Amino acid sequence: MNTPLIGINGLIKIKPEQLEASLEAIRGFGFDCMEFNLASIPLIAHGEPVEPYVDYVRGIFERSPLKITGHIGEGLDLRNLREPALHKSVLAASIDVCARLGIDRLTLHFSKASPILKEEEAFFEAHAEAADYAASRGVLLLMENIEIEDYRKVIDMVRRMNHDNFKMTLDIGHLYLSVRYFGGDFLQAVRECAPLVRHTHINDNTGRFEPMRLENFALYKTLHMGTRTALGSGDIHLPPLWGKIPIREAVEILRGAGFDGIFLCEYENDLYMPFGEKIQQDMRRLVGEVYGG
Ligand SMILES: [Zn+2]
Repeated sequence: MNTPLIGINGLIKIKPEQLEASLEAIRGFGFDCMEFNLASIPLIAHGEPVEPYVDYVRGIFERSPLKITGHIGEGLDLRNLREPALHKSVLAASIDVCARLGIDRLTLHFSKASPILKEEEAFFEAHAEAADYAASRGVLLLMENIEIEDYRKVIDMVRRMNHDNFKMTLDIGHLYLSVRYFGGDFLQAVRECAPLVRHTHINDNTGRFEPMRLENFALYKTLHMGTRTALGSGDIHLPPLWGKIPIREAVEILRGAGFDGIFLCEYENDLYMPFGEKIQQDMRRLVGEVYGG
């Protein structure tokens, strides 16, 4: 079993010209990896790679010792039946860009299942196609559970796909919220997901589901993160171990299932910059204790 790596999501709200400095800051905090959101820089336009930016970002990644993982951009909707070809082209371009940037794993969002069967079938088929293409490019696809849907639907999808190149990113913050809303026990849910998990997102929250996230997403997005944090409301992306999630127990279950990938601390990092190094050290210590490293 490998010693798991400790990572962080890319620094939030940076400009493209700050990318290289942000990688150095992350390195300074002591992280091994950074997860790069493909929409944080205009790398794709109308389903096509933007070549000057692909070259620019590749140069920066090649100069950095950090391992880079990928996160799909927001707005991709493979349940969209009006412009399916356009959305598929964005996913294909995302896979292509990852391969060219040296990224070997890409997290995708499950979001919320549609009640329309045709949309769910389109979603499944688009990913089945993408899993083959991504395998040919050396990019592992990872479906992430989101707090607005029951995690069992992600498990069902990954099992039904039954593809070596289509596995799961477990977001423990999302899982902790979703079991409060949809029912279930958090640690039991981690156990059910664990055999399919090849990547993680580790952040904390209070377990208080914010119904507005489902009922009125437009209004939810206007809420200031500071306000939601003060209320402990919803997916507040606290640093790991700053909230109420039993993270150690979850890590123990993942270890028991043989997971030895990346513990990717995916938190609202721009709000916690003074603590970047401490957050890395605390997570690494916990993982070291559980894995005996
Ligand atoms: Zn996540």
